[in-house]
Amino acid sequence: MKLYNTLSRTKEEFVPINDNVVGLYTCGPTVYNYAHIGNLRTYIFEDILRRTLEYNKYDVNHVMNVTDVGHLTDDGNDGEDKMEKGAAREHKTVWELAEFYTQAFKDDIGSLNIRTPDTWCKATDHIQEQIDMVRQLENNGLTYQTSDGIYFDTSKFKSYGAMAKLDIEGLQEGSRVDMGEKKNATDFALWKFSPQDAQRQMEWESPWGKGFPGWHIECSAMSMKYLGDHFDIHCGGIDHIQVHHTNEIAQNEGVTGKPTVNVWMHGEFLLTNDERMGKSKGNFLTLESLKEKGYDPLTYRYFVLGGHYRSKLNFTFEALDGAVSALSKLRNQLMLWDEAAHQAGEQTTGAATEIDTKAIGEFMAAMNDDLDTPKALAVVWDMARSNMEPGKKLATIFEMDLVLGLQLQAWYQERDREQANIPPQIIELLEKRQAARDAKQWDEADTYRNEITGQGYSIEDTPDGTRVKKQ
Ligand code: AMP
Ligand code: ZN
Repeated sequence: MKLYNTLSRTKEEFVPINDNVVGLYTCGPTVYNYAHIGNLRTYIFEDILRRTLEYNKYDVNHVMNVTDVGHLTDDGNDGEDKMEKGAAREHKTVWELAEFYTQAFKDDIGSLNIRTPDTWCKATDHIQEQIDMVRQLENNGLTYQTSDGIYFDTSKFKSYGAMAKLDIEGLQEGSRVDMGEKKNATDFALWKFSPQDAQRQMEWESPWGKGFPGWHIECSAMSMKYLGDHFDIHCGGIDHIQVHHTNEIAQNEGVTGKPTVNVWMHGEFLLTNDERMGKSKGNFLTLESLKEKGYDPLTYRYFVLGGHYRSKLNFTFEALDGAVSALSKLRNQLMLWDEAAHQAGEQTTGAATEIDTKAIGEFMAAMNDDLDTPKALAVVWDMARSNMEPGKKLATIFEMDLVLGLQLQAWYQERDREQANIPPQIIELLEKRQAARDAKQWDEADTYRNEITGQGYSIEDTPDGTRVKKQ
């Protein structure tokens, strides 16, 4: 299995540290608002990574954090705490805000069939671990104090910015103004003191004074707590390369003196109108808003799989509608294959039928080539159009769906129950209508529709396939 490692900027053969157990840390949401569908693109990519690893028989230990303190509005050392600001906006306590949006996030990933991590960890549950880590960095001579907090002195960490290939001198030159008391442009806060003039809801005692942790330290402290000081894969969105993950590396290695993560992987942005979708830009859509418009969340998942995770993906409703019809067509195929297999006397219990190892081989070759989902979907459609026995197609697509996560089997079982009472001649007419629609022969399709309704059955074309019911 090959994965693109941001550290080397190349696809590398993945070799786990311990036999077949894989430690995976993915940066989680800041729970001050709903996740937008751009954020969710990143979580879908990480879910695909996890499913691919699992299909390859790795035992994945997946840890995801929840940022409920310390992430500032400018993503750096200044600005307001996003959580405190969000609480004021919604007239809630910070704790209520965190709970509300954590649940909303869990609902979103559930709707997208993203597996839940083995461990969720909240920044506010790990304050002591973060303080301990800052202490260790301090003992190693890598910190200094200003009037507003404890900072990491990046000039003392020789390889600072190596992964991001940062031009440290250029950054330093360009930021003479506005450095405040910082010694170097890239220095960042490990611990911030509570402001004198305002009361924070979240603050803790520390050896340096009352305050709260910086954003980056939480991921260092929690990833190492749960996965140890040398683990396999760490993921996030591409915006994390420059600052958040660069700082995590400095913190981790500042404590352990050696690299802690073997493979760093980053998902590209979702765009709207060719611009990054972002909360601060105000150009974002939530999954909820797609649901309100009648979209099944799994069509968004299908849309995302249509792009490679390292390519930018532009969101439009036309493109989403394309995903709606593709997924609906795929779902309809399941019923047609099922029916055709019954007629041919094949067994169609899906998983119990033999899968096509050649098709699975091609599919997994695409997935194992740095998660090439567009190519994998092309393999799916090639198989759908091939002359493989229908029962085998069913079994094979369900096998592929263990990685794609489109819940095809669940859909099929539900539909199977619904259709159990639909007589074969109606199914046959449906099949013919579908073929006419595929060929864009609308008049012919309408003739079949009329025949079906004439026999007392109604037809409804929904975003997730055609439904037939006895009238
Ligand atoms: P946040 O909740 O802001 O910390 O972001 C959660 C995740 O979404 C991070 O991994 C970000 O890198 C990622 N992200 C933010 N904006 C986008 C976007 N437009 N497209 C894809 N991922 C994004
Ligand atoms: Zn993180």
